[in-house]
Amino acid sequence: MFSALMKDIQKCTYCEERFGFTPHPVVWGASDSKIVQISQAPSNNVHNSLKPFTDMSGKTLKYEWYQITDEVFYNQDNFYIGALAHCYPGKDKKGNDRLPPKCCFKKWVIKELECVDNQLYIIIGAKAAKVFFPNDSFEDLVFKNNYLNNKLTIVLPHPSPLNKRWIKKHPKFLDERIIEIRKIINEVINKI
Ligand code: SF4
Repeated sequence: MFSALMKDIQKCTYCEERFGFTPHPVVWGASDSKIVQISQAPSNNVHNSLKPFTDMSGKTLKYEWYQITDEVFYNQDNFYIGALAHCYPGKDKKGNDRLPPKCCFKKWVIKELECVDNQLYIIIGAKAAKVFFPNDSFEDLVFKNNYLNNKLTIVLPHPSPLNKRWIKKHPKFLDERIIEIRKIINEVINKI
């Protein structure tokens, strides 16, 4: 069932008309990945590489925040790397990435989350946090441990260079919180 779902997502072109170009669905993970990570949507770089977080956001997330190698991050025993939408949605008139199409979450992501037997969720960015925790303040979510489906859930600010202002305004994130988060991630990855 899981592999059929992955194949169906990889073939999906549902948003082609809306995007104005051929969608490139990016999927990465296994039904028993230890960590399910959900962010916003792939960037233009990822649209071309078809490998998640092969961009500036990925450099910050993998090497500075998690402090793990590509070998660990892209090991599908460790990370299921998902998003609110599987495809890069193109740019708006101001040159910013468009919002992820909501249809993808309903069409695919809910089914994926039901299939993966993970131990930890990591939700990245305010837009993804709003979907999973609609009534909570984003700041509160980042600085505490949360729970989804009775599983420990970490909420991170987006690691995009465009989000530098948030990081600067909340020095406790890099000084304290990310150290706790790194420890949690390492414990989950290294658990036998
Ligand atoms: S964003 Fe989701 S629903 Fe839209 S084409 Fe890509 S995989 Fe399909």
